[in-house]
Amino acid sequence: MPTGLTMPGVAPVVDPYGRGITYLRVSVTDRCDFRCVYCMAEDMTFLPKKDVLSLDEIRRLCGVFVSLGVRKLRLTGGEPLVRKNVMQLFDELGAMLGDGGLEELTLTTNGSQLRRHAGALHAAGVRRVNVSLDTLDPDRFGEITRWGRLDRVLDGIEAATEAGLHVKINTVALKGVNEDEIPAMLEWCHHRGFDFTLIETMPMGDITGDRTDQYLPLSMVRARLRDIYGLEEIDYRTGGPARYFRAVRTGGRVGFITPMTHNFCESCNRVRLTCTGTLYMCLGQEDSADLRQVLRATDDDDVLRAAVTEAIGRKPRGHDFVISRRERTPSVSRHMSVTGG
Ligand code: SAM
Ligand code: SF4
Repeated sequence: MPTGLTMPGVAPVVDPYGRGITYLRVSVTDRCDFRCVYCMAEDMTFLPKKDVLSLDEIRRLCGVFVSLGVRKLRLTGGEPLVRKNVMQLFDELGAMLGDGGLEELTLTTNGSQLRRHAGALHAAGVRRVNVSLDTLDPDRFGEITRWGRLDRVLDGIEAATEAGLHVKINTVALKGVNEDEIPAMLEWCHHRGFDFTLIETMPMGDITGDRTDQYLPLSMVRARLRDIYGLEEIDYRTGGPARYFRAVRTGGRVGFITPMTHNFCESCNRVRLTCTGTLYMCLGQEDSADLRQVLRATDDDDVLRAAVTEAIGRKPRGHDFVISRRERTPSVSRHMSVTGG
């Protein structure tokens, strides 16, 4: 039986390791209004427009994936909500929900534009949103994001809640930067009914500075949270790679995404599409398929379906991330903002 979400409808394409591919993450832009220190260099050069898929092309490709059994679409980036007219894309993808075969349409955002778009996202059929937030301290927020403002993000989160969206907070655990704040952030989230997920830094793309200085193993964080709150492992899944626990003292959920310390690959049900139409079968491997070329060469979706199926047939077993003092170059040269987090 293939792993992944099991829903009625089209049977998903199954990779060589028996994993059914039901989840597509789509980067709709490589641009962003922040420059988070672990994600981007300050002087990023962005892609020329002609290389980036149009909204129509993204919609067409997503339709092809849904026709091949993908049940969950997550739009990401860069910052998805800075892409011009992106709400039009949400509306069109939202029309695929239900009988169209799509089970869930969602996004990962830095929250800076949520006040403006929360209502429209809900109207398009989005019900859950992941907001990345690494600190609740305004000065620290400025240091981590370089260009961001915490008050705008907090206001965006409030707007999302008011619009009826379920919020999950994603926090990258950064050694010596926000590790002292993690319990306070857990309480802040649980007090508001938000799930709280911690992520380890992954060695992706050249950034300014040294990654070994930022890497904080979540096994240590988990042990500390267990001492403070008591953690019970629970059987909760969102279709993503997080392992969830209930914090006994707050009653809320806390998830851990640990690509470095725990291999989450065996149940991997997803592939990733960049904003240039390159399909990556694994976040931590270079192998890819150029779907833009196929897409621009033909109007025949069957040809695209064949290209996607062939690519999934090459999905590797897992990633080879390493962070060590000896390996100074990133394991994967592209930035997270290219593949989409
Ligand atoms: N701009 C949106 C945001 O920040 O939510 C979406 C794109 S961002 C690349 C997606 C997620 O990837 C964010 O939660 C971010 O913290 C995370 N991320 C970026 N670079 C990372 C890295 N090197 N290791 C781990 N997580 C990273
Ligand atoms: Fe932008 Fe998200 Fe990367 Fe921060 S993590 S720079 S918000 S894409």
